[in-house]
Amino acid sequence: MKKILAAMLALLLLCGCSAKEAKAQQTIFCMDTVMDLQIWGRDCEEAMAACSRELLRLQDTWSATDEDSLLCRLNRKEEPPLRQEEWALLEAVEGLKMRTGGAFDPNLGALCEVWGFYGENGHVPTDSAILRALKASRWDLGAAIKGYAGAKLVEILEQYDVSRAVLNLGGNIQTYGKKRNGEPWNIAIQNPQGGDYVGTVVVEDTCAVVTSGDYQRYFEENGVRYHHILDPGTGYPADSGLSSVTVICREGLTADALSTALFVMGLERATEFWRASDDFEAVFILKTGEIYATEGAKLSGCEFEVIAREK
Ligand code: AMP
Ligand code: MG
Repeated sequence: MKKILAAMLALLLLCGCSAKEAKAQQTIFCMDTVMDLQIWGRDCEEAMAACSRELLRLQDTWSATDEDSLLCRLNRKEEPPLRQEEWALLEAVEGLKMRTGGAFDPNLGALCEVWGFYGENGHVPTDSAILRALKASRWDLGAAIKGYAGAKLVEILEQYDVSRAVLNLGGNIQTYGKKRNGEPWNIAIQNPQGGDYVGTVVVEDTCAVVTSGDYQRYFEENGVRYHHILDPGTGYPADSGLSSVTVICREGLTADALSTALFVMGLERATEFWRASDDFEAVFILKTGEIYATEGAKLSGCEFEVIAREK
C-alpha cells in the first residue's frame, strides 16, 4: 500500500511540474485606449483584479476630461487635498519637465483643449487662442499617465505570486519578470506608415517600452494632418521630422515622459539628450522612414543607423 501511495505521489508531483502555468488575460478600455493585460502565475486572477482596479482608479484620478477627477479639480483651483502619492507624481512630472528643458510639459491642458484633442472635434485654433492657451497653466498628464500606470502595476504584481506579465497599456508596453524559459521579451515596434511592425526590441525582465507617434491621434484639416504631440515652444504639433520615438527604460513614468519629449526635440537634440543620460535607450523613426537606434536599444528585424555614445 505504501509503495502504491508513494508511486501516486511521485506521479502527482510529476504532473504538477509539467502542468501549464496558470494565466489570466483581460482587455479593458481605460484612459481612452484599449489595454490588454496578460499575467502568469498562481495568483494571476487576483493580481489581474487588483491591476484592473488600479488602472480605473488612476483614470478616475488623473482624467483631463472627467469633471470630477482630482486633476480637473486642481485645474479649477479648488485646492483638493492631495495624498502623498499624488504629490509625488506631480513633483515627478515637474522634474521631468525640467530635465527635458520643457519639451515634456505636463501643463499643456489648455493647449490640448483648444486643438480639440479632448474630444472628436479636432480643429486648428486661431493664433491668439494658441497664445492664450500657452499662457494658461493647466495640468494634462496624457503624456505620462500610462507609463506611470505601468510602474504602479509592477508594484502591485510584486505583492502577488505571479512569475511574469505583459501589460499593453495602449501601446505602452510594460513587461514584468522573465519569459517562462528564461528568455528575454521581444517587443514589436509599430510601423508609423501603418501595416506591419518595423522591427523588435529585446528587453530583459521588467522594463517599459513606450512609443509616441504622430499616427496615434490626429485630425485632418484642408488636407493637412495635425497630430497630438504639441511643441510647447510653438503651440503647434511638433514638426521635428520624426514620426515616432520609442523609449526603453526600466521606469515607466520616465519612459513615457521621455518618449513625448524626444519626439518634440527631434533626432539631433534627442541624440544629445541621450548622450547626457544613462537611464534609457531609444529608437527613432523619421518621416522619411529612416530608422535610428541608440547603441543599447537591441533593435533587430530592420535596417537602421546606430547612434553611438561617443561622437
Ligand atoms: P504621448 O502619446 O505619451 O506622447 O502623449 C501625448 C499626449 O500628451 C497628448 O495627447 C496630450 O494630452 C499630451 N501632450 C501633448 N504634447 C505634450 C508635450 N509636449 N508635453 C507633455 N504632454 C503633451
Ligand atoms: Mg509619453
